[in-house]
Amino acid sequence: MSELPGIVVMGASGRMGQMLIKEVLASDKARLVGVLDRPGHDWVGRDVGECMGGQPVGVMVSDDALETMAKAQAVIDFTAPAATVDMAEIAAQARAVHVIGTTGLTEEDIEKLSLAGRHATIIRAGNMSLGVNLLTQLTKKVAAALDEDYDIEIIESHHHHKVDAPSGTALMLGEAAAEGRGVDLTEVSDRGRDGITGARKRGDIGFHAIRGGDIVGEHDVLFAANGERITLRHVASDRTVFARGALKAALWGQGKKPGEYTMLDVLGL
Ligand code: NAP
Repeated sequence: MSELPGIVVMGASGRMGQMLIKEVLASDKARLVGVLDRPGHDWVGRDVGECMGGQPVGVMVSDDALETMAKAQAVIDFTAPAATVDMAEIAAQARAVHVIGTTGLTEEDIEKLSLAGRHATIIRAGNMSLGVNLLTQLTKKVAAALDEDYDIEIIESHHHHKVDAPSGTALMLGEAAAEGRGVDLTEVSDRGRDGITGARKRGDIGFHAIRGGDIVGEHDVLFAANGERITLRHVASDRTVFARGALKAALWGQGKKPGEYTMLDVLGL
């Protein structure tokens, strides 16, 4: 058992944190060696199994990242940008693979992660599901096949707790569409129209965010021309798909050279 890669889960009490803990505990390819939460969180110092309302699992929730990471081969991090940037440094020191699902990172955050990626293995994706990663490839292909007569709009829907928009997945899809078209997304991105915006600019890629209830995650990529429309659609109905993808990434990253990777590398797409 002891040679199985040891995994640390960050943000233990979060929606994804709890899903990840269950996924690692259920796996016969990895061991849960630690879980972290924010200093002062009322789970700190308690058995994480009990915190989640079940039986003890022998892993205590800690707020000491340095100490917890000393025994880990990988850390899975679905938290918040500031926490993820801090963890990048610690994971690199611990020579642990850093799997990042956190979204809403700024350009500056991403630069800091790239610095850490010079001497650490980082796998980052705005969406860890197989389906969405396939959808990005399809989006790239369709965008490459169609010209600017086809207006591209990306519509995403998420639960009412989500704090960032557009979603990391919508941005991945936008990047894929821009790549397919051979344009720079920053130059054609048109986010959340409001007011007298003027007519749609040819070649723009539009983004729209719906927030409501307990929607796990839905993404439509619309290609709309005069006379016809094509919609590529992904619906996630259970967060397990993200947790499963993240654990797969943590295992795939073992023994990989330092650098920045995505789920496309993990899935061989
Ligand atoms: P959530 O329920 O709010 O959980 C976030 C967790 O991170 C909480 O436990 C939070 O603790 C913890 N946290 C925040 N700041 C921290 C810090 N500075 N130090 C330590 N822990 C900290 O959110 P969620 O729905 O699980 O989503 C988390 C992130 O994953 C979001 O960015 C979301 O967009 C992303 N996500 C990505 C994918 C993907 O496939 N890539 C899929 C789903 C979600 P507190 O409660 O104490 O603040």
